[in-house]
Amino acid sequence: MNAEDLKWMINLIPDAAILVNRSQNIVAANLKAAGIFRTTVEDLLDAPLDILIPESSVGVHRNHVDSFLDQQKPRPMGAGLRLNGRRSDGSEVPIDIMLNRIRYESADYGIAIIRDDSEKAEIEIMKEKLQAANARLTRAQEVGGMAWWEHNPGTGQMLWSTMVSRMLGLQQDEPPSFRAIRNLCLAEDREKLDSIRWHQGETPRKTVCYRIRKKNGEIRWIEETCHRESGDVVMGVLRDITAQKHLEEKLRKESVTDELTGLFNRKQFNRDLKSAYSAFVRSGINSAIVTYDFDHFKNINDVYGHAMGDEVLGQAANLVRHQLRPSDHAYRLGGEEFAILLRGTSITNARNFAERIREIIQAARFRVGDVRACATISLGIAEFRPSDSCFEDALKRTDEALYQSKAGKRNMVSISE
Ligand code: GH3
Ligand code: MG
Ligand code: MG
Repeated sequence: MNAEDLKWMINLIPDAAILVNRSQNIVAANLKAAGIFRTTVEDLLDAPLDILIPESSVGVHRNHVDSFLDQQKPRPMGAGLRLNGRRSDGSEVPIDIMLNRIRYESADYGIAIIRDDSEKAEIEIMKEKLQAANARLTRAQEVGGMAWWEHNPGTGQMLWSTMVSRMLGLQQDEPPSFRAIRNLCLAEDREKLDSIRWHQGETPRKTVCYRIRKKNGEIRWIEETCHRESGDVVMGVLRDITAQKHLEEKLRKESVTDELTGLFNRKQFNRDLKSAYSAFVRSGINSAIVTYDFDHFKNINDVYGHAMGDEVLGQAANLVRHQLRPSDHAYRLGGEEFAILLRGTSITNARNFAERIREIIQAARFRVGDVRACATISLGIAEFRPSDSCFEDALKRTDEALYQSKAGKRNMVSISE
C-alpha cells in the first residue's frame, strides 16, 4: 500500500471524505468532498487543511486537529459540535464531521467523513424563526387582550390558545369546549352567545358581546367573532372589551348628566318620560311629573353672587336626591328649572312628596364659607291622562301648574286637575 492506495481507499468511501497527514495537509480527497467545498479533487490534494476552514477559526481548528491526531479519540457524526467549512468561493457551509485516525507506514493520518448539514441547519433556523413568530403572536394576543379557538363540527375537535383560559380565568389545563365558556356567561347574555354558536347565516362572520363572571367573581365583557372557514371549520376570536365598555358607559352617563348638580339632564328626562308614557299606554301604570323652579333666583345671584347661586342649585339637588326612591329620578332641565319623575305614583302621593321637597328647600340654609342663603321653589304636578296623545301633553299641564304657583304666592305646590 502506498499513497496511491490511500487515494484509492478514499474513493471507495460513498460519503465525502478527506485524509490529512500530521502536518495537516490534504493527501487524499474524493469527489463528494470536493463537491461540498465547491472545488476539485486536484485543487484539494497537497493543499493545507486550513483552506477548508473559515479564517476566523483556523487557529483553533489547527489545535483541535493536532490534539486529535495525538490522542486518537474518534469523533462520531452529530457529536454536538456544529462546524462551518469554507468553500473555495469563501462562503461558509455548515458541516458535521466523523473523525478517525489511521496509521500507515509509521505515519499518522486523520480521516474525516464529512456531511453537508446545510439542510439541517436551515431546518434549525426555520424552527427558531417559527418559535420566535409564535412567541410574538402569543405576546400580541396578550397585549391586544385577544384569544382564539377553532372548532371542527364534523369531528367535534376543538383547539384554543392559552390566552382563552387566561382571559376567562379558567385553569390552564381546562380542555377546550364551548360549554366551559357558556358556563361562565351571565344567564341574561346566554341567548346572544348561543345565537353565534350555531350561526348558519348568509355571511360567514358574526360578532356578539356578552358578559362572563370569572371564578373570582369578576365580571368581564367579551366580544366574540366567529367565522366559518373553508371545510366547515369555525374560527373564533375573543377580545376582552371590559375597559372599552366601561369607557362607553362613562361617556354615556356623562352625556345624560348635568355637570353642576350631578342630576340627569333634559335629554334623559325626555327619554324617561317617553318610556313612562309607553308604560301608561301599555299597562295603565301612571306616573306623576313634578317640575319646579326657584323663586326670585335672580335676587340670590344679585345679593350673594353667582357662585352662591351655583352652590344653592348643587346643594338643593343633593337634598332632593335623598328623598328619591330607586324608581324615582330627578333632572335639571336647564337654568334653575328642575323635574322629578315619580313612576307608579298617584297624584295624591306626588302632592305629599312635592310638599316635602318644598319644605326641605325652604328650611335649608345654603352655605358658601360663612355666608348663608335661603331659597324657595314653586312646584307643578301632573299625571298622564288617557286623552293624551304624547308625553308632551302631560308635561304641558305640569308647566301650567308651575305657572299657577308662580302666579300665586310662590313657594307652593299646584296640581293640574
Ligand atoms: P321667578 O320666581 O319668576 O322664577 O324668578 P327668577 O328670578 O328665578 O326668574 P327666572 O326663573 O326667569 O330666572 C332665572 C335666573 O336664574 C336667571 C339666571 O341668571 C339664573 N340662573 C340660571 N341658571 C343659573 C346657574 O346655573 N347658576 C346661577 N348662579 N344662576 C343661574
Ligand atoms: Mg326662577
Ligand atoms: Mg326659571
